[in-house]
This record gives sequence, C-alpha cells and structure tokens, in this order.
Amino acid sequence: MTVIEKGKDSAQNQDFILEAHNIKKYFPIKGGILRHTIGHVKAVDDVSLQVIRGETLGIVGESGSGKSTLGRVLLRLLEPTEGTIFFEDDDISKLGNRKLRPYRRDMQIVFQDPFASLNSKMSVAELIEEPLVVQTKMSKSERNDKAIHLLEKVGLRAEDRLKYPHEFSGGQRQRISIARALALQPKFVICDEPVSALDVSIQAQVLNLMCDLQDEFDLTYLFISHDLSVVKHISDRVAVMYLGRIAELAPKQALYDTPLHPYTNALLSAIPTTNRKQRREKIILSGDLPSPSNPPSGCAFRTRCPKAHEKCSIERPELLEVNNGHFVACHLYN
Ligand code: SF4
Repeated sequence: MTVIEKGKDSAQNQDFILEAHNIKKYFPIKGGILRHTIGHVKAVDDVSLQVIRGETLGIVGESGSGKSTLGRVLLRLLEPTEGTIFFEDDDISKLGNRKLRPYRRDMQIVFQDPFASLNSKMSVAELIEEPLVVQTKMSKSERNDKAIHLLEKVGLRAEDRLKYPHEFSGGQRQRISIARALALQPKFVICDEPVSALDVSIQAQVLNLMCDLQDEFDLTYLFISHDLSVVKHISDRVAVMYLGRIAELAPKQALYDTPLHPYTNALLSAIPTTNRKQRREKIILSGDLPSPSNPPSGCAFRTRCPKAHEKCSIERPELLEVNNGHFVACHLYN
C-alpha cells in the first residue's frame, strides 16, 4: 500500500491529529501439541491513513474487515505488529504504558455495546469519575461537578448520577458511555459502532448528540460502522475497508456520488432507498468474505469482484489518489 509521507500528499496544508503508516496487526494461529504458530490472521494488513483535526473520518466495512482492530491499534489498546502511529506529530507506536499515559487522556473510545462496556456494579457518578480519579488530581467535589456537567451535556439529569446502568435504556447507557469518554476532555475519540446496538429511532438522536458534542468540545472522530447510511450521516471523509486493507478513501460526497472501487459500488447498491433518483443497479457479490488467515493473492477482493481480470490475481493494487483526495486500490484505475 502506498505510504503517504507526512506532509507530502494532496492535503499538504492539512493539520493531521493522527497519522498511521503501514499498520499491520497479525494474530498468531496456534496448532499442534506444542502450540506452535502455524499461521496468522491478518486482521489489519498494511493500512496507512491520516485523520484531519476536527473531522469525522468514517471507517466502513463488513464484519471481519478489520475496522475495529484498526481502531484499537490506533489507540494502542492492541499492539501493532508493524507500522508507525503519530499522534500530534509524536510517534506513539512503541511507547510503554507510563509514557503513553498523557496520550491516553487525549484519545478515548466509545464502544458498541453500552450494556457490556459499563460496569453494572458502579454508579453513573463512579463510572464518569473513574478516569478523573486515575488521570487527574481533581477533588471529590470537582469530580462531582464535572460528572453533573457532562451528564447534562449528554441529555441526562444531575440526579441520574446516583443510579446504576441497569436503570437506563440502551440509548441512555450510550449517553453515559459518551459522558465517560469525554470526562478527560479528549481531542480524538474513536467511536466503534456506537449506535449499532440501538433502535433505529434512537440512533439518530445519539448521532445528532455526537455531532453537537463534536462542535462544542472540538473533537475529532474516527467513526467505525458496518452501516453506510450511518457513516454517511456523520462523516466528512469515508474509508472503505475490505479484508484488512483500505479499498477506497474519499470525501463523503465523492464516495457516495461517484464510488470507484467495485466493492464500494456493491455496498452502496445494497442500501435500500425510496428515492428513485438515488436507486442504483443492485450488485450481488458472490461468495463470502475470504478468511483473513489465507487472503487471496493480488487484490483481496478478486474472488468476489465482477470486474476481476488477470492482473488482479498477480499484483496487489496500491491505494492511489485518482482525484483530489479520492484514493482507490484497484487496477482499473492504476
Ligand atoms: S483490482 Fe481487480 S479484483 Fe480488485 S477490485 Fe479492481 S478489478 Fe476488482
């Protein structure tokens, strides 16, 4: 995959809050009596991307595409197998826990499942104040004021801080997760399928809340989802992942109006719409997502691609810029 060198791409004057270069995350497969490594699951396979300060970069892909693993690697919740991560120009890829600590304040995550991610034995106040206890020297009353402030910001009431997670609906729990993520006033938040577990009617409320909070707190989001409609609602740019790699990355409008990669076309054609003008010819992909432990040679998408040709099985397509800020990894455009 093309390495976009710092400050040398078309977005030369952009202020990047985070840059990732050639990130790989391979999980070993153990086998035999001695549990030797007999292979690897290539969950993330050579991904480079840059996140512009203040934007929402959507990452979309099927289950198993590596998008959540990539998010965790960027936060150093998982160790990268290879690659470099810069946060505000500092290389954080190899920092130990102690040196990572100040960066942890600035980089937070909201998980998909607010039922699993909140400790049911802790009150809402304890949940929101926990990062403040660990990372700051705030007094008890300062922490209490902060918790009340954050609860009100996410649309809950001050008295809710005395309750426990099971007393709330799914949407309210996700609001608590967001309040907790914002407690340390982060600059960068990874949102990993934050509305996927919620009813459709609640999804829009939580997405709108996240947009409001982004403006108010000057946040940058990396928004991970399998749902192209949700990603379209919130993102400025969108990266489409397939089998651990980025297939296409573009400003939102360009990606949805003029998708280039055959995989993006297939995904967009599957979005139901009542608008006749927006209706696309349905592209049915054959077969399942191949195993990331044994990806196809050349282009990872070739076994399902309706436009695959000879070169596709031999050479891996590079992610190249074909238009202003519009990158695609496909031999049709190289
Ligand atoms: S490189 Fe070939 S197989 Fe891959 S998306 Fe393009 S046309 Fe399809």
